Amino acid sequence: MYRTHTCGELRASDAGKTVTLAGWVQKARKMGGMVFIDLRDRYGITQLRVEDSTQPELAATASKLGREFVIQATGTVEERQSKNSKIPTGDIEVSLTGITVLNEAQTPPFTIEDESDGGEELRARYRYLDLRRNPLKNAMILRHRMAHEVRNYLDDKGFLEIETPFLIKSTPEGARDFVVPSRMNQGQFYALPQSPQTFKQLLMVAGYDRYFQIVRCFRDEDLRADRQPEFTQIDCEMSFVEQEDVLNLFEGMMRHLFKVVLNVDIPNPMPRMTWYDAMDRYGSDKPDIRFGMTINDITREAHGHDFTVFDSCEYVGAICVPGAAEYTRKQLDELTEWVKRPQVGAKGLVYIKYNEDGTFKSSVDKFFSQEDLADIACVCQADPGDLILVLCGPKRKAQTMLGTLRIEMGNRLGLRDPFNFAPLWVVDFPLLEWDDETSRFYAMHHPFTAPKPEHMEWFYSDKKEDLERVCANAYDFVLNGTELGGGSIRIHEAEVQKRMFEVLGISSEDAEVKFGFIINAFKFGAPPHGGLAFGFDRVCALFGGQETIRDFIAFPKNNMGRDVMLDAPSAIDDTQMEELALRSTVQNG
Ligand code: ASP
Repeated sequence: MYRTHTCGELRASDAGKTVTLAGWVQKARKMGGMVFIDLRDRYGITQLRVEDSTQPELAATASKLGREFVIQATGTVEERQSKNSKIPTGDIEVSLTGITVLNEAQTPPFTIEDESDGGEELRARYRYLDLRRNPLKNAMILRHRMAHEVRNYLDDKGFLEIETPFLIKSTPEGARDFVVPSRMNQGQFYALPQSPQTFKQLLMVAGYDRYFQIVRCFRDEDLRADRQPEFTQIDCEMSFVEQEDVLNLFEGMMRHLFKVVLNVDIPNPMPRMTWYDAMDRYGSDKPDIRFGMTINDITREAHGHDFTVFDSCEYVGAICVPGAAEYTRKQLDELTEWVKRPQVGAKGLVYIKYNEDGTFKSSVDKFFSQEDLADIACVCQADPGDLILVLCGPKRKAQTMLGTLRIEMGNRLGLRDPFNFAPLWVVDFPLLEWDDETSRFYAMHHPFTAPKPEHMEWFYSDKKEDLERVCANAYDFVLNGTELGGGSIRIHEAEVQKRMFEVLGISSEDAEVKFGFIINAFKFGAPPHGGLAFGFDRVCALFGGQETIRDFIAFPKNNMGRDVMLDAPSAIDDTQMEELALRSTVQNG
C-alpha cells in the first residue's frame, strides 16, 4: 500500500496513529535542529517533521529532498505546537520514521504556488506542472462537479446521453470546418462537427425525445478573445416541445447548478428580454443586467439644433453615468480616445455634465441651450452629479457602440462583481441577418431554426423588408454579459427547410448535396422539436468567477490554435502525405 491517508485528511483526532502518506515535496526546510517537509497531493498539504538529534540519517535524507520529488513517508501523527489555521491539516504534523524517494524531480521551471512566477507561455509548455497548482486544480474539480450535476439533473428528467460521430460532413454553425483527409477514400475529406446539430435532430426523428451530450465541438475560427478551436457543449434536444418547455427545463438545470455548486439562488422565474429590447436598451444581444446605465434614444431631442454631426445621423443615443459629472477634462479626453479605438469604432464622444448646482456643461454648448440639455437629461432620467455620454450613427451600430461604452463604464465604476450572478433569457431573435458585403441573408442562429409560425407569410415573401421582420423562437441564456448558451425551436418539415436554404441563397442542388440527409429524414415523420446548447467551458469559468475559459480546460490551445506542449499542429511525414494522396504547397521549416 502506497498510502494510508491523503495529504488533506489528517486532523487532531488522528493523533497517535501511524500513517503513510505519498505525494510531492512542496518544500523542505531546516529549522532549529529539525527538518520540515510540506507534502502535497491533490487533497492538500501535510507537514512532516524529522528530528536531527534522534534520526540523523533520516534527517540527512529529508534535507536532500528537492522541490517536486515524489516520496512516501511513514510516521506518527502528532498535535502541532504552533498550529496553522490556514490549512485544514494545520493542527497536526507527522513525526517521521521513514522516507522512501519514489522519484526524483528536476527543479520545475516555475514555482508550483497559487501565484506562480512562470509566464503564460512557459506554464503552457509544462501544463502538467501548472495543473498541480491550486487555481487550476480547483478549476478541474469545479468542472467535474458541474458535469456530474448536469448529468444528474438531465438523467432525472429522462434524458438519454447519446454519442454522435466526430468524422462527419459539415454542420453549418457559421465557422470554418476542420477537415480530416480520408485514406480509404482518397481525395475526400471528413469535417469535424461544429456541433452535433443535425445528429440531434435526426435522433428526434428516430424517436429519442430527450437527448443530451457533453460533447466536443470544433470550429476553425480566428481565435480572438478567449475562444478555443475545440470546446465543449452541453448539447440538448427535445421533441414535442414549445419554446416555453425548453426554457423552463433548462432554467431548472441552471438553477440546480447554481444551488448545488455555488449555493446561490437565482431569480425564479428568470428574467426574459426580447432581442429588440436588449439591443435598444443595452446595445448588445447579451446584456449585462447587473447594473443599469441603460441606453436612451435622444434622437428627437438631439436633431434640429444645427449640429450637423447629430443631424446627419439616423440615431443619437446616450447613457447616464451616475455621479461622474466630476470627470476632468483629461478623463473625458481619454474616454474620447477610448471610444475612437477600432474595437469601439466611434468618431467622437459628446458629453453633458449635469452639475450639482443644476446647471449643464457640455461639449456642444454652442448648439444646445441649458433648456435643450435639460430635455436630454430628462429623457436620460439624469440627476445632478451625473455625466451623460452621447454617441450617434446608424441605429444598431450606435447602440452597439453605446453598449460597449456602457460595459466599460460598468468596469470603471466597479459594477461588475463576478460573484454577483444576473442570468436572463434573451428571446425572439430575428431569424435572418442581412449582410451588405455579400448582399445576402445569413441565419442569425443556424439554418435549422424555425420561423415563428405567425411570421410564415413574411418568410415566404420575396421582399427583403419582410424577411428582415421574421422572428424565430430562438433564445440565448445570458449571464453577466456573456452568452452561455442558445438554441431554438427547429424546422421539422422538409418544405420549410427547403425554403430556408433558398432564402439563404443555397441552391437546391447544393442543399441536396450538403443536407439531403436531413431534408429526407424530415419526410419520414419528424416530430416538432427544439433544443439548445450551453458552452460548458464558459459556464464553468463564470461559476469559478473567471473570465477566461483556458484555466477550465485541462489541455487548452493558445490564441494561435497551438498546443505548445505537444507542439501541434505540425507537419506530417512524406509517407503519411502519400497515403492520404496529399501534396503540400507550403515549405516547412
Ligand atoms: N447547435 C447550436 C450551437 O452550437 C445550439 C442549438 O441550436 O442547439 O450553437
